[in-house]
Amino acid sequence: MAPSFSNTNDVIREESRASQLVPRLTRRLSGFLPREIKSIDATIPLRSRNLWKKNNIQKFEEEEGFEKKFVTHVETSLARSMYNCDELAAYEATSMAVRDNLLIDWSATQQRITTRDPKRVYYLSLEFLMGKALDNALINMSSDKQEFSSTGDNTSRGYVKHALDDLGFNLEDVLQKEPDAALGNGGLGRLAACFLDSMATKSIPAWGYGLRYEYGIFAQKIINGYQVETPDYWLNFGNPWEIERNEIQVPITFYGYVDRNNGDTTTLSPSQWVGGERVLAVAYDFPVPGFKTTSVNNLRLWRAKPTTEFDFAKFNNGDYKNSVDEQQKAESITAVLYPNDNFTKGKELRLKQQYFWCAASLSDIVRRFKKSRRPWREFSDQVAIQLNDTHPTLAIVELQRILVDLEKLDWHEAWSIITQTFAYTNHTVMLEALEKWPIDLFGSLLPRHLEIIYDINWFFLKDVQKKFPKDVDLLRNVSIIEEASPERQVRMANLAIVGSHTVNGVAELHSQLIKTTIFRDFVRVFGEKKFTNVTNGITPRRWLRQANPELAKLIGEAIHDPEQNFLLNMSKLNGLTKMADDPDFQTKWDSVKESNKHRLADLIKDLNGGVEVINREHIRHTLFDIQVKRMHEYKRQQLNIFGVIHRYLNMKDMLKNGKSIEEVAKRYPRKVSIFGGKSAPGYYMAKLVIKLINSVADVVNNDEELQDLLKVFFIPDYNVSKAEIIIPASDLSEHISTAGTEASGTSNMKFVMNGGLIIGTVDGANVEITREIGEDNIFLFGNLSENVENLRFKHQYNETELPPSITRVLNAVEKFTSEYKNEFKPLTDSIKYHGDYYLVSDDFDSYIAAHDLVDDLYHHNKHEWIKKSIISVANMGFFSSDRCIDEYADTIWNVEPLKPESS
Ligand SMILES: *Cc1c(COP(=O)(O)O)cnc(C)c1O
Repeated sequence: MAPSFSNTNDVIREESRASQLVPRLTRRLSGFLPREIKSIDATIPLRSRNLWKKNNIQKFEEEEGFEKKFVTHVETSLARSMYNCDELAAYEATSMAVRDNLLIDWSATQQRITTRDPKRVYYLSLEFLMGKALDNALINMSSDKQEFSSTGDNTSRGYVKHALDDLGFNLEDVLQKEPDAALGNGGLGRLAACFLDSMATKSIPAWGYGLRYEYGIFAQKIINGYQVETPDYWLNFGNPWEIERNEIQVPITFYGYVDRNNGDTTTLSPSQWVGGERVLAVAYDFPVPGFKTTSVNNLRLWRAKPTTEFDFAKFNNGDYKNSVDEQQKAESITAVLYPNDNFTKGKELRLKQQYFWCAASLSDIVRRFKKSRRPWREFSDQVAIQLNDTHPTLAIVELQRILVDLEKLDWHEAWSIITQTFAYTNHTVMLEALEKWPIDLFGSLLPRHLEIIYDINWFFLKDVQKKFPKDVDLLRNVSIIEEASPERQVRMANLAIVGSHTVNGVAELHSQLIKTTIFRDFVRVFGEKKFTNVTNGITPRRWLRQANPELAKLIGEAIHDPEQNFLLNMSKLNGLTKMADDPDFQTKWDSVKESNKHRLADLIKDLNGGVEVINREHIRHTLFDIQVKRMHEYKRQQLNIFGVIHRYLNMKDMLKNGKSIEEVAKRYPRKVSIFGGKSAPGYYMAKLVIKLINSVADVVNNDEELQDLLKVFFIPDYNVSKAEIIIPASDLSEHISTAGTEASGTSNMKFVMNGGLIIGTVDGANVEITREIGEDNIFLFGNLSENVENLRFKHQYNETELPPSITRVLNAVEKFTSEYKNEFKPLTDSIKYHGDYYLVSDDFDSYIAAHDLVDDLYHHNKHEWIKKSIISVANMGFFSSDRCIDEYADTIWNVEPLKPESS
């Protein structure tokens, strides 16, 4: 008997039989149960019910259970045997076995949420930079038997490793077979992934919504020193971590027109959008396991596919190919991730992606809400939607459309629901990153939405005008529509602010800056309270336990927490403070670092065609100086490489002046400068910096006079799994953005949590890191953000003469290339003649001075260095993303955890 469901205008079929039944129970409990259904079980005959229960699959909790599952999957799911089970098959079988466990918990978690019907969080992000899933699942996967296996690992990872050993496989090699889920560019996408981990760990009823890109961020190859982009074929061998839900399909409409032929309707009353193009959004679900809990949340990613409607008109005209082509076009919507970080370009396909994703997600969210048969006014008591940057801002407009056009709510009633539901996270103050859409493009793709935006803007501006009569400048600045030439544009940030109850920045300095710069006028309109801060964080499960198991183990032993519960309560790291001076502990601490440096040196050797770059003999005393992040002028990799050139020139000068290599080594002790990061394919300057780094590496690494005292290496294709190897190996990492440009940074947190020190500017979360670990434990340099405007102004009017130190470097730059004459001229000219927008010259001497302090401490007072490292880690608890999620839950979402009964 088919239950009749609430009348949504879409054609979604129901998720599963079980989830159909639970809402009935809810309805019964709240008095809404339809009369004809007496109980949740009533629709299933007793005999069937007992059979279902009897055959329920069980989770495995130890080696034997895993082995059985593994072999079953090899022989049935993969149709192989022990004679042709290679490492890839072993990876797939292991993943499917682990996934089975997760799905049991996932199902229980989702049933619990459906039955109890608490307020839910929806985290909308166009990017989820998840990395690999298996290792993380093995660590997070709950097990009632938390015994210590013979491998010394008390997570499920321990016994699975052992079982695989017995079956003839090495876990580390098996893990290598998994491709990264690289559905993001950098920090913003990785933040979303860390938040998912923390929300699951804290049992927050939360779903992530994003897009399932056929190709994630491109793979970066370095050929002759240049970045070359190649497609990321991450789905080539299938993906055991996704569950394709062909039963969940949402039709999405584009183009067309608004039909208002019964003359009395206005844009404010229910209107009919007659769409042109139609595609389907198909759901793909990814289980997100929490750590030491049975809570498993869901990440739902949408994929575009053609409707089954076929253009018979074209077909009958003999245009068979075109009628198929049209269909193929649909799939292009979720084909690729746009590879720009902190930069936008008004491409129609991107806007299409955004609407496709927002419309599918909201249809899902609204359908779920309607199942509980609550009145609309309770919507914001049940639903919190977080917008990760302005990319999902269309969700605001789409919900207004659903409420007014389809659900026939009064405009103002609908708008009040919206402004109690949405909250917006801003990620940048840089103007080139603020999204704007030309009116014509927008109106042709989404004609009804443009009308709704005009009306939202009209009511908003009317309110502003009432409060600030005659302030035309204010009206112009806060308007959602920019009256710009050559064309008017929709300002997505303005729309996001107007439609949200809370706007947050991602570090204190950044949150302060948005209030005084880009959103200044909105603070006048809405008041200070709407604008808050939630400093970013990272999940210690992936970034400490998974990336650096040796350090996690050492910490666990040192603070008498061998089960590593500190990973759930990072303030426990404080216990390390009292060991900071202990010479034995320092030695152990340094040994972990040395071992991680070898691991990175292995990777570098591998990437260098098997040829060793780093002198292993001296590795313990070689300073690993690392800058890995997206390539961007504001992040200033150019400052770093200029510093390397400066060092190299000085070393060569010393030798030329008759100094011995020992004397040089005393002044410039052993160091490897490691770089890594992708540039947007169209970002000329960033690509030129990559080339310069590789050109410098060529010269420096092959200069035998230096006897390995200085090495430079660019690690190609920086991604999450490379980060997990790179970050634990750093002695020093560089977070050297022009002050006021880096919203937060999160890799700064990852590095310090792994015992590296920072050289950095007073920017983003470097400020809070300094506050937490103490200013003696960080190498700060450079101009402050409040002086940036002045300095830029001076450059513009050529009032500044460049310091001789940077001039010398700029003049030497061309010596590092054999390719073209003046290859790096655009780079040096931008500093010499084009205003030095990122203030490289202004910060150069102070940067070099900070490096001198680094050298001195690392090589002449290693004990002090290690002490700083230990004290820093001891004070990094604040940067756990668990803390972020607590703050969002308490101050923005107003949601409570829904814990499994047993915990
Ligand atoms: C953490 C992370 C980032 C962010 O790095 P920032 O230095 O904060 O910009 C980028 N990419 C990857 C792969 C990361 O893991």
